[in-house]
Amino acid sequence: MNGKMLEGRRALVTGSTQGIGLAVAEALAAQGCSLVLHGLARPGEAEAAQAAVRAAGAPDVQFFGHDLADAAEVERLMQSVLQDGPVDILVNNAGIQHTAPLASMPRAKWDAILAVNLSAAFDTMRLALPRMAERGFGRVVNIASAHGLVASVQKAPYVAAKFGLVGMSRVAALEYASAGSRAGGGVTVNCVCPGWTETAIIQPQIDARAQALQVPREDAVRDLLREKQPSLRTSRRGRSRASWCGSASRRRTT
Ligand code: NAD
Repeated sequence: MNGKMLEGRRALVTGSTQGIGLAVAEALAAQGCSLVLHGLARPGEAEAAQAAVRAAGAPDVQFFGHDLADAAEVERLMQSVLQDGPVDILVNNAGIQHTAPLASMPRAKWDAILAVNLSAAFDTMRLALPRMAERGFGRVVNIASAHGLVASVQKAPYVAAKFGLVGMSRVAALEYASAGSRAGGGVTVNCVCPGWTETAIIQPQIDARAQALQVPREDAVRDLLREKQPSLRTSRRGRSRASWCGSASRRRTT
């Protein structure tokens, strides 16, 4: 990629204090994009994420810590972000997981996973897309999962939320397909379905598998990945940086 293709653009990446969200933010920053970082940060984490994104090349960086499990907080987040300026790129990345058989899944976990992984994206898109359409430019990238395409046992709320996110992305892509013009760039909505990636969200599953099978961590990873990821290797943050910028500009919904 030549030059900085996102100079003058501003992106909001939810759940960007760590993991995939931070990698996305760094990739956008490397293309000259200003960043609004967001997430439930532990002490020092927000500052570290902001420093990383500045070092990657973001001319301007903000941070918001609103809890996406609360719909009113999502509204407040969007109000705060939009009153400071337009959002050109919205990445709905924040996500949580809890594994248990359907019959014993706590109702509170169902509510929380649906709220963070699906409803929050509904609200951010509901509030951001009309303004993108008015300006004739917008890019929405929703981070679903391989579990937005196939199921696994013990993941009823996560699979339901991710299938929902894939479907909602398709609806939004259709609704905004004719917004703006070819010259202005228009408004696109894409959904990415990553496979297993080495971040905090999957650690409890690896630990539980190692414990259940009484095997070392690397064997537990291979066992966990066997069903869905034939390489039997997790993805790592650093490797996919270049492709993130490319995929955001393609009109593709998976
Ligand atoms: P992670 O746990 O490292 O990061 C999750 C981020 O979401 C953090 O920044 C956290 O602060 C934020 N977050 C969680 N709950 C929140 C809440 N209530 N309010 C606000 N922010 C909240 O996870 P990750 O692996 O980087 O996951 C990012 C996305 O990628 C998620 O949507 C996840 O479902 C998806 N995904 C991950 C994998 C994987 O193997 N890691 C695979 C497929 C999809």
